[in-house]
Amino acid sequence: MFNSLRREKGRKVFIIGLDCGEPSLVFDRWRDDLPNLRHLMEAGAYGLLTSTIPCITVPAWCSMTSSKDPGVLGFYGFRNRADYSYDKMSIATGAAVQTPRVWDLLGQAGKQVILSGVPQTYPVQPVNGYLVSDFLTPSVQSQYTYPNDFRHEIDRLLGGREYDVDVHQFRTPDKSFLVRQIHEMTEKHFIVLNHLLKTKPWDFFMFVEMGIDRIHHGMWSYMDTAHPKHEPGNPYQNAIKEYYQYVDRELGAMLSALDDNTVVLVVSDHGAQAMDGGICINEWLRRAGYLVLKEEPVRQGNRPIPIEKVEVDWEKTTAWGAGGYYARIFLNVRGREPQGLIPQADYEKVRDQLAAAIETIPDPQGRPLHHVCHRPEAIYREVRNFPPDLIVYLGNLRWRAVGSFGFDSIYTFENDTGPDDANHAQDGMIICYDPRRNWHGQRLNKLNLMDVAPTVLHLMGQPIPDDMQGKIIQP
Ligand SMILES: [Zn+2]
Repeated sequence: MFNSLRREKGRKVFIIGLDCGEPSLVFDRWRDDLPNLRHLMEAGAYGLLTSTIPCITVPAWCSMTSSKDPGVLGFYGFRNRADYSYDKMSIATGAAVQTPRVWDLLGQAGKQVILSGVPQTYPVQPVNGYLVSDFLTPSVQSQYTYPNDFRHEIDRLLGGREYDVDVHQFRTPDKSFLVRQIHEMTEKHFIVLNHLLKTKPWDFFMFVEMGIDRIHHGMWSYMDTAHPKHEPGNPYQNAIKEYYQYVDRELGAMLSALDDNTVVLVVSDHGAQAMDGGICINEWLRRAGYLVLKEEPVRQGNRPIPIEKVEVDWEKTTAWGAGGYYARIFLNVRGREPQGLIPQADYEKVRDQLAAAIETIPDPQGRPLHHVCHRPEAIYREVRNFPPDLIVYLGNLRWRAVGSFGFDSIYTFENDTGPDDANHAQDGMIICYDPRRNWHGQRLNKLNLMDVAPTVLHLMGQPIPDDMQGKIIQP
C-alpha cells in the first residue's frame, strides 16, 4: 500500500500501540461505539497482525520494532533461562535488547522521536528526543524518562500525583478498584502524551497503552457471556467496552492535533480471548513419569507450591516445565544441564515423544484440545541464548499452563498467580491511515508484526537493513 510513497521523503509516523488490543472487538463488535478508530479503519486499511510465538508482550513489541524474531533477539518471554542451570532466570528488560529498534535507526538518521510506554525501554537509554519508559520500570523513583529532567515536567502536569507505568496490582479480586486504577493510570498517560505531542518536536511518535491488557486479564469473564465464569447481569458487563470508548475519545483528541503529513498506525502486540482453565504442566509431567520429586508437595497456607520450592530428583528427571499464558518445557540433557539425564544422541527422540504425549492431553471431559508444541529451531531464523526445548500452546491458548504443584488434578480453574480470566490470542490488529489517501477500509491480509518496522522506515524515506525479517506493508 505504501509503495507509491517511495518518492515522498519525510513523512511523519504516529504509532498508537494498544497492548492486547483485540481485533474482533475493534473491527466488529464495538466498531460503532469507537468512532475515532472506526474512522481510521474506514478511511484507511486494516487487518490482523500475526504476533510472535509466543504471543506475549515481551518479546512481541521488540519483534515489531526491530523486525527480528524472538530467537534472533535471544529472549522468549519475560523470564528466560540465564544459563543451563535449573534455577537461574533473568527478566528481559530493555537491557536484554541487543539490536537496534526503529527509533534507534531513525535517531541516527537525525529524525526526532518520542516514545512512551513502549515495552523494554527500561532501563532508559538515550534517544534523539523524549522517552517515558515502560511497565517493566520498577518504580518512578528510578530514572524513567529521557532526558531525566522530563520527569519534572510530568510532575508539574500531574499536579503532584505520581505517574503510573502500570497498574500496581492487576490480579486483584477487587474489581471496582482495578477498573478505577486502570482509568486513572490511562488518564495520566494521556495528559503526558498530549503534552509531548503539543510541546516537543517529533518525526516519529509511538506510545503503548498497557491498560487494555490489564482490563482484559482482569475483567474478561464479566463481559464475555461464553466465558465459563461469566455471571449474567453482573455490574461489570460494560467495563471493558467503556474503557475502549474512553481510549477512543482520547485518541480522537490526539488525532485531531496531527497534520496531514503524518501517517497513523494503530497496532497491538497480540489479541485476547477467554481463558477456559489451567493445565498443571509439572503435575502432568510427574504423573507421566518425566519429572520425579524427592518429596510430596504440600500446600502451605492453602497456596500452590511453585516448582522452585519443591525438591526435584534431577538424576531421575527427563523434563520440567514453566507456566504462564503458554508452557515452556525444558529437557534435562546430559552434558548440558548439571545433572542431565537424556543422552545427547536421544535428544530429538525424547523431545518428539514428549511433544506427542503433551499434544494428546485431553480436556477434563476427555475431549481433544489440540495443543501445539513448537520447536525453537523450526520457528526462528536463529536460536540465541537459552530457549525452552518446547514452547507449548495449550488448547490454542484457551488454557493456561500452571507450573505449581498442590492441585489434586492436572486441571485447575484456580490461577496460581491470582485472578485472571483472559489469555492472549495469536493475532493482534493493525490499522493504517494516511490523511492524504483514502483506502476505503481495505482489508489487509497475511501481515506479521515484524512488518511494522520496515514499513515505518520506508514511509520515512530511510533504508531498510538487510537483517530485518518483515516486509513493507502493501496491497
Ligand atoms: Zn501484550
